[in-house]
Amino acid sequence: MEIIAPFQEVIDEIKEKGGDAIKYCYQCGKCDTVCPWNKVRKFSMRKLIREATFGISEIEKEEIWRCTTCGKCPERCPRDVKQIDDMMAIRRMATGYGVFAGPVKPYRTVASGLAGQGNPFNEDRKTRAAWAEGIGVKPFKEDMEYLYFPCCYCSYDPRLKKVAQATAKVLKKAGVSFGILGEKENCCGESIRKTGNEDLFKKLAKENIKAFVDAGVKKILVSSPHCYHTFKNEYPMFKVNFEVVHVSELLPQLIRDGKLKLTGEYARKVTYHDPCYLGRHNGIFDDPRDVLKEVPGLEFTELPEARMDSTCCGMGGGRVWAETEKHERFSNIRVDQAIEVGAKELVTACPYCITALEDSRLVMNHADDIEVKDITEVILEVM
Ligand code: SF4
Repeated sequence: MEIIAPFQEVIDEIKEKGGDAIKYCYQCGKCDTVCPWNKVRKFSMRKLIREATFGISEIEKEEIWRCTTCGKCPERCPRDVKQIDDMMAIRRMATGYGVFAGPVKPYRTVASGLAGQGNPFNEDRKTRAAWAEGIGVKPFKEDMEYLYFPCCYCSYDPRLKKVAQATAKVLKKAGVSFGILGEKENCCGESIRKTGNEDLFKKLAKENIKAFVDAGVKKILVSSPHCYHTFKNEYPMFKVNFEVVHVSELLPQLIRDGKLKLTGEYARKVTYHDPCYLGRHNGIFDDPRDVLKEVPGLEFTELPEARMDSTCCGMGGGRVWAETEKHERFSNIRVDQAIEVGAKELVTACPYCITALEDSRLVMNHADDIEVKDITEVILEVM
């Protein structure tokens, strides 16, 4: 047990923001019954809330970093406690002290990459658009309809570059008017904010907003539900209001308008994993399913925990950068469930989920049993 500090500072901050529902917690423990951590190890949100409410004691540092902000417990809480806001307030305090130990040690290097190069990998900002070379993607111009914002993972990660490329190819084939900002983009800042680094979030957001406004961006098309959530629900705090569209929302529209013709045969059994920040946080459940059901020959089956009940992949809340024991990864559960329902492909619509699920499939020796795909990769195959 390590001590960080009394929580009065946190309680004051939560109250200042009008979120004093923390004091209404009556310790029923319903949050713990739905928390995915309790599928892999013991963890108690109820206990953390008690500690924060009374400002009485100390807290194990590791516990304050566990919440993946999946959004399951706020849905279940009978007292309207804002668990995600409360965890972020606690983390802001820990970040203020520079406390990053154990599994969250990488947060320090991630923050320096984000501050210096605008991405968590500390990759050269100048290579941000390298994924788009040779496929005819143009720089954004004011007369284009969409700014396509692929996110850091789809810009730099070798597996996820394929998602950005598939998306660009699908958009081009459908005649969508879009361009990219390349090195002028920063990370949207969603995950670093969840780790409690509010100042860095604001810096990234303000630089992005300047780049968007300077370029005349009105509509932003995203691959990541984390970018979606941040641009749509958090950037308005800076008095801007861009129209934000997730690619899984645009695809059914393109199919309906006859711009996307799905002609190939996809004779595979497929299931869909709802990303927390697309589904539970933003209510997009039907669009990706509607698209998959349009694919000729595709046999669609649901996972046991779907839509609002979807189990988090484990990568939200900044955990994408934390070290998680191999046997404690939530994505292992999803891969198992997909295999149990007989699916040969586990499709999703989030770069973080793909990272986690690809990793689990390899760690669990299921590489030959199931494939993990982004929804755009399926569509590209049948166009
Ligand atoms: Fe407290 Fe809500 Fe959790 Fe019950 S579900 S213990 S009221 S935070």
